[in-house]
Amino acid sequence: MSATSAHLTLPRPAGEPGPGRRADRQLPLLVLGAGADPHSERGVSCPGELPPASDPSLVRRAERARAELGDRAFVLGHHYQRDEVIRFADVTGDSFKLARDAAARPEAEFVIFCGVHFMAESADILTSDAQRVILPDLAAGCSMADMASFDQVEECWETLEDLGLADVVVPVTYMNSSADIKAFTGRHGGTVCTSSNARRALAWALDKGSKVLFLPDQHLGRNTAVLELGLSLDDCVVWDPRKPDGGLTPDELRRATMILWRGHCSVHGRFTLADVTDVRRRVPGVNVLVHPECVHEVVTAADQVGSTEKIISVIEKAPAGSAWAIGTELNLVQRLAQTYQDKTIVFLDRTVCYCSTMNRIDLPHLVWAMESLLAGQIVNQVTVEPQTAAQARAALDQMLALP
Ligand code: SF4
Repeated sequence: MSATSAHLTLPRPAGEPGPGRRADRQLPLLVLGAGADPHSERGVSCPGELPPASDPSLVRRAERARAELGDRAFVLGHHYQRDEVIRFADVTGDSFKLARDAAARPEAEFVIFCGVHFMAESADILTSDAQRVILPDLAAGCSMADMASFDQVEECWETLEDLGLADVVVPVTYMNSSADIKAFTGRHGGTVCTSSNARRALAWALDKGSKVLFLPDQHLGRNTAVLELGLSLDDCVVWDPRKPDGGLTPDELRRATMILWRGHCSVHGRFTLADVTDVRRRVPGVNVLVHPECVHEVVTAADQVGSTEKIISVIEKAPAGSAWAIGTELNLVQRLAQTYQDKTIVFLDRTVCYCSTMNRIDLPHLVWAMESLLAGQIVNQVTVEPQTAAQARAALDQMLALP
């Protein structure tokens, strides 16, 4: 099947009336840069002239545009961004810290989010109406967030309702999800979580109900439930949105405590148990430090597990001369190795493993976005429809109120 004839299941756009069960919109896949789908973050070409990456004046242009924008703009850089972009960030952090940083700068007219689409959406939800959130390349999506569409999640919920289980299920969605899914969670009395507070979010949800629907990352849900809350692997089932009734029997759903959505991170999901065994053989005395989006067997074989912020903090505090193999996005691992040259820091996988969508934000796109703003043209603004934003905000506020 050619790329142009393939089809892609997309979430219902915010504001459109909800369809019935199994009524996903089927839209043609677009070749990147060759067209535009207004409902998707994929396949969107940049209007205007993108400077070529080979332009020798690119850094100078970025410095000039950044200086001219001054306090009108606030540039956020996610930890997984390239160095060429991070150097222009006013703050760096994980997705939630960055969204909160943006909300704390109401004087900034433009929030330029160097990250991926769901992060820009969260920033739009948490900032004031007067602030415009700009994503320098709208094709910077997240494969994990795309694994749970609105229609699929509604269909799952309808199955739980039909079985009389919905009243005891509390949805918990990872920050790495679309605004639609956060809104679904808010509407059903659930909470958002990050990799730093997933244990508290799950404990709160299991106090409120007897089951959790965890979206969209099965690995974070499983690792947290089993390793931090003492549940067993048998307490968890995986809902596969591509199978009728999630591929689960009513009995399996009734018995389960954790209903894990079948989603994963295409970067962290690559690390294997063989990588852990191999690095222990190659690097004597190495400490293996991985992100909880890794598969369960990798996390259980590692010495430490933690969010991006925790990984940075562990390396910062580690004694000189210690050795670390880190299982997270490569841009961050390379930056840590560069910053802490008194420690041995290696990438857990032997092969290159950048997040391809994070890497879509490069210096040409950043320069293009800033120069366009200076020319009075607001490009690549990310907005969340007000009703969706209000419901998603309820789930985000619940996270902030977690005990
Ligand atoms: S690293 Fe994984 S979760 Fe993060 S943006 Fe990339 S695909 Fe999504």
